[in-house]
Amino acid sequence: MESSPSGAGRVNLRTPDVMSHVQAQVESHYRSALVERIRAQGGVLQVGRTTIRLAKQFGFCYGVERAIDLAYAAGKVFSDRKIFLLGEIIHNPDVNAQMADLGILHLPARPSAEDFAELVAEDIVIIPAFGAETATVDAIKARGARIVDTTCGDVISVWKRVRQNAVEQVTSIIHGKSVHEETRATASRALGPDGSGHYLIVLDLDQAARVCDFIRQGGNAAAFMETFRDSASPGFDPELHLKRIGVANQTTMLRSETEEIQNLLRAAVASRDGGDTANFRYFDTICGATQERQDALFQLLSESPDLLLVIGGYNSSNTTHLVEIGKKSQPTWFVRNASCLRSADEILHYDLDKKEEVLSSGWLRAGGTLTVGITAGASCPNNLIEDTIRRVLELRGEQLPG
Ligand code: SF4
Repeated sequence: MESSPSGAGRVNLRTPDVMSHVQAQVESHYRSALVERIRAQGGVLQVGRTTIRLAKQFGFCYGVERAIDLAYAAGKVFSDRKIFLLGEIIHNPDVNAQMADLGILHLPARPSAEDFAELVAEDIVIIPAFGAETATVDAIKARGARIVDTTCGDVISVWKRVRQNAVEQVTSIIHGKSVHEETRATASRALGPDGSGHYLIVLDLDQAARVCDFIRQGGNAAAFMETFRDSASPGFDPELHLKRIGVANQTTMLRSETEEIQNLLRAAVASRDGGDTANFRYFDTICGATQERQDALFQLLSESPDLLLVIGGYNSSNTTHLVEIGKKSQPTWFVRNASCLRSADEILHYDLDKKEEVLSSGWLRAGGTLTVGITAGASCPNNLIEDTIRRVLELRGEQLPG
């Protein structure tokens, strides 16, 4: 499906002809026969003394599959035009590199006036699965360029909630990362149709506790705004805009944390309003795919693998939360792809605390039996998972039967 500026007409990209071409291309880039085989045999692969256990749900979600299909379809249908991708189609460097290989050009996620000035009416701009800020969409339309909108339906559901909040003069408290494309897109919708709405983005429990304190007992508004300088709507005043609140969340957050945050905020409003919660709303907007991957990981961890590999882009929110879950119980390594498994001793992995890729040693036991749990974020294709499985087996000195 494609949305387009008025007057530019609508084009159905997903015709049977286009889609059969797209499916063949997508499969050749991202499919893995090995991963499908392991899935079909219950998610377990036993080779010699090494057992690979896959989570029941991992990898590409429906929203990502759709976004990739649409991007490839745009490449086919508009092969005679310049096609730009706004930021990243999803948070996976290998997939984004494939987009570049298809000839799709890069436009920053937040384009500058000079970037917009380059666009002409014949150009195509692909909006990624996380969506885009309203100002960005408006600027693209103003240039007359055609938009291929791959925003996931689950993200659009959040937008409907926060827009409604704005219409009813309820401030949206968004549990999310203020730098994440999806949260920025959601925040822009929380301003409402006339721009008079308000939002506050809350990253974690600590920030939620700060908001709760202000709701309960007020305080120094300037100091409060210092904490939320880059995470609040223009003109946000905690004295005024925390009176009626509605909690929504980035679709890929940790479910348990989101629930805790909404409980804290509800309790704070109830305590301020004499037990009344009429000024509080909550809509669970964690998407089904994120939830399934988190649940499946808990199940995998209950089978106590010796270590866990989480595969995905380092800027992928849902993948990061899988790593957080894993780290609570098992040695967990967050890797981009098989090339990170340098040797049986060394592994290049992303350290969530240091926020950088680091080299560690002693990650893979050479002898004895070993069970390796594997999961992957919603933006990780199966071919990267297969490469990683093959590398683990190689480093363990195992021969994968044909
Ligand atoms: S992770 Fe959820 S919200 Fe994001 S693209 Fe996938 S299904 Fe949609």
